[in-house]
Amino acid sequence: LLRVRELRQKNARLRTMHVEIDQANRKLQELTESREQFMLIACHELKSPLSGVVNALHLIDLAQNSEEREEGLEYAKEAARSLTVLIDDVLKFAQISHSGESRDEPFSLVEIMQTIKQIVKAEVSAKGLEYSIEIDPKTPATVIGSAYSIRLVILNLMGNAIKYTDAGSVAIRSTYHKTPQEELIISVTDTGVGISASDQITIFEPYKRAGNAPDGLKGGLGLGLAIVHQLVEQLGGSIAVSSVEGQGSEFTVRIPVHSI
Ligand code: ADP
Repeated sequence: LLRVRELRQKNARLRTMHVEIDQANRKLQELTESREQFMLIACHELKSPLSGVVNALHLIDLAQNSEEREEGLEYAKEAARSLTVLIDDVLKFAQISHSGESRDEPFSLVEIMQTIKQIVKAEVSAKGLEYSIEIDPKTPATVIGSAYSIRLVILNLMGNAIKYTDAGSVAIRSTYHKTPQEELIISVTDTGVGISASDQITIFEPYKRAGNAPDGLKGGLGLGLAIVHQLVEQLGGSIAVSSVEGQGSEFTVRIPVHSI
């Protein structure tokens, strides 16, 4: 009887091991597939600005006058800029995937918001959007947290809000909670294209883009939100999205901080 019980226990252990090996295999397969998918998307996305540069060089080569040469140059600069943005995205993601650490330091949320405003100002006014920032007056003048990551998170969310909004407004609202834990709750809202319910589930995964994503030069690699997600998790926080197609989106991050 003892021997039978022992064999049963052994069998049960073996079954659990099989399930675990199956799960690990599936995870590995998913990772390989997403890497392959990434290579395909990356090559495809990098190809269009690159052929933009090549075409522009041809235009400059064939230009009959200074106006045509100027036009070719502008086109080349625009394509080169897109290329830089795409490559920056890939590098940022690779760096963040491997670093796993974020340094805490004292910072002023007001200053971070001002820097962000400076960075996005030109883009916002070029699209004729309204822009607003609202900071909870209860927020301490200086808090301790990873200023670098927080800035990157808000910048990425703001960049998307602008990219996916053609009319209306983009806004950042930040509130400060002391209990149950000290945290900043930052929402970035827009009145843009919105995201379908099914896409809202996948957009935080690397290389995933929603059906509303533009093609060609304006496209990205679908890495921005994966970067944001990873950063927020590293900080011990969380991120959520709420969106209605055709009306707009709201991304909300909760980030633990502590005051001095
Ligand atoms: P991308 O480089 O494509 O912008 P992201 O990872 O930043 O990649 O976003 C993933 C996808 O989520 C985008 O392709 C887009 O479809 C969708 N998305 C992100 N932010 C917004 C937004 N504010 N409004 C509408 N769609 C958005």
